[in-house]
Amino acid sequence: MKLWGVVLLLLVSLFTFGCLAHRPPVLDGGSIQINGQVVYWESASFPLWLLIDDQLPPSHITATYDAVDRWNDEVGIQVFEPVLWDLSVAAPRTSGFVVVSVRELGESQHRQGRVLGVAQNHVYTGTGRMHSSEVWFDEDLHESRLLIVMEHELGHSLTLAHDEDDCRSLLHPSVVNCPPPTYIMPDDLDRVRLMTLEVHVSNEDAPSAPLYSFLPDMWQES
Ligand SMILES: [Zn+2]
Repeated sequence: MKLWGVVLLLLVSLFTFGCLAHRPPVLDGGSIQINGQVVYWESASFPLWLLIDDQLPPSHITATYDAVDRWNDEVGIQVFEPVLWDLSVAAPRTSGFVVVSVRELGESQHRQGRVLGVAQNHVYTGTGRMHSSEVWFDEDLHESRLLIVMEHELGHSLTLAHDEDDCRSLLHPSVVNCPPPTYIMPDDLDRVRLMTLEVHVSNEDAPSAPLYSFLPDMWQES
C-alpha cells in the first residue's frame, strides 16, 4: 500500500465486532462497517481481480480457485476473476482487486485464539468505498481447512460481516463451534448481487479524503 502513499490504521478485531452492532441502513444481511459507514465495492469494480500469489503451494491455489468457483456460482454473477500473480510485481494501481497470500497469523500476540485466515479491506476513508482487499491463509493452516477458510475470507472481501447468530452460515466466526458444511446465506447473496448492480448504500454526505482505513477481520478456532 506504500505505493499510493496512504496511511493505514490497524483496527483490532474487537473494534470490528463492536461496529457490527449497527445494521446497514439499506440492505438486510451483515455488512462490514467503519465508523458507522457501510463498506461497499462499486459495481464497476466487478469482477474483482483475485491476485493469487504464484508461490503458494498447489493445494492453496486449488482451494482458492475452488472457493472462487463457489462464490461465482452461488451469486450467479462472476464476482471474482482469479489470476496467478508474482507478488514481487506491484499490484494494480486501480481499485477493485484482492490479493491472496500466506502469513504467520496464529502466533501473533495481537490476536487471541487460533487465527486461520484474515481478510483486510482497504477502504477510502470517509466514503466506505472499497479500494482493495487482502486475504491471508495462516501459514500453519491444515490442508483440510484451506477451502472453507478461503470461502469464508472471500466473503469478508465481498464486504460481508460475521454472522454470529447462525451456525449454518459460512460467515460464522468459528469453525470449531460450527463445523462444515456451511451455507452462504440468502441475505448475504442478495447483498453481493445488489452491490454488483449499483451503489446501494447512502454515504453521499461523507467527505472524500485521500486516506485509507484498514479493516482486518479474522476467523478463529476458539
Ligand atoms: Zn471472519
